[in-house]
Amino acid sequence: MPENSTIFTADTVFPVSAPAVPDGAVLAREGRIAAVGTLADLRREDPAAEVREFPGCVISPGAVNTHAHLGFRRKDRPEGGTFAGWLGRLIEKLPEKEAWTAEAARDSAQEAVEAGTTFMAESSPYAECLPQLAESGMAGAVYAEFFPGDFDGAAPEEIVESIAERVKGLGEGLPERVAARVSVHSPYTVDPESSRFAAHRTREMGWRLAIHLSESPEEVEFVRDGTGGLADIFGKNEWGGWGVSPVRYAEEIELLAPQTIAAHLATGVSDDDIEILSRTGVAAAHCPRSNDFLGCEVSRVPEMMRHGVRVGMGTDGLWSSPSMNLFEETLFAVNLHGFDGATGLRIATLEGARALGVEHETGSLEAGKWADLAVIEARSGRQDPEREALESAAGGGVVATVAGGNLIYNRA
Ligand SMILES: [Zn+2]
Repeated sequence: MPENSTIFTADTVFPVSAPAVPDGAVLAREGRIAAVGTLADLRREDPAAEVREFPGCVISPGAVNTHAHLGFRRKDRPEGGTFAGWLGRLIEKLPEKEAWTAEAARDSAQEAVEAGTTFMAESSPYAECLPQLAESGMAGAVYAEFFPGDFDGAAPEEIVESIAERVKGLGEGLPERVAARVSVHSPYTVDPESSRFAAHRTREMGWRLAIHLSESPEEVEFVRDGTGGLADIFGKNEWGGWGVSPVRYAEEIELLAPQTIAAHLATGVSDDDIEILSRTGVAAAHCPRSNDFLGCEVSRVPEMMRHGVRVGMGTDGLWSSPSMNLFEETLFAVNLHGFDGATGLRIATLEGARALGVEHETGSLEAGKWADLAVIEARSGRQDPEREALESAAGGGVVATVAGGNLIYNRA
């Protein structure tokens, strides 16, 4: 008999890549999904498996958070309103932040786990939140943001080589499903040449690259004209004013590719920009609650999806977003764009995995993938059962989270 077999069973299983299974179950073996079916079928298939029953619940794939920051505390979130105003206050608070970043990262990660998250793409300065993601039980990657101003006037190529070496070192000794990667933070903090070198270097390594792009009105103005709130903050930057949109700028400096995940794409995204996103194959991380809080526009997600752009959901961090609950973020998007529940559940899980290029490993309940799942209290009698599951999970209804076959959270 195979070791470590567990059957997780509930009233309904939503595989997402296949129709819902009433009285459904997932058989996990050695961390992977061995089969999905009815409880009766799976008991026959593996009579020795331990059975964990969750009556009154549904099982969905674990949430995939495609853009998060772990190192912020909810209690000292700066005021929202405008992006540049918020960023200015954030920068003022940075000196005091060091004292509690690790604690904030642990708490944010735990909040995500308790909300059914099993995979996370986290971005933090020099990957400072990597230990906390690695300890959380979630799978994923921490993207090391680097700021060329910290490198004492070094040439862009040296800066990028230094960060790539550092990230390679961080990758040693991590859990099997956790990685360290590189992020080009944004068009207003990383100069074009460093950005271009980073894009080349990461592709050469076979790494994914995380960026923030076309987030705020201030960013659009900075990239186009070199003026506005971000020019006031980053006055020493010499590269604003390219005369184009952030998306076109990112294409010109070769940041956009299928390996790149671009967070936000919220403000100033034109039809031409959507064509660029589609043509370059870049994926999008949609963070609508953060955009709402920071005076950014509504991302044109439905149009992007119609043009074949891969879109996943991201919570951003607790200084711009009310929670680390990816299902709650998704419910906000469902209401914003008029999606049905099935589309919402798919964006929260399988589409997020596609955006991050890990759809063969996670994001749906299929034999061969990792056993990553969320167990959610079901509320009864509605017409759209996936929406019901999202509403429950958004409101604290996750009762258990399983990553790689391990129960990393169990309310009972
Ligand atoms: Zn972000």
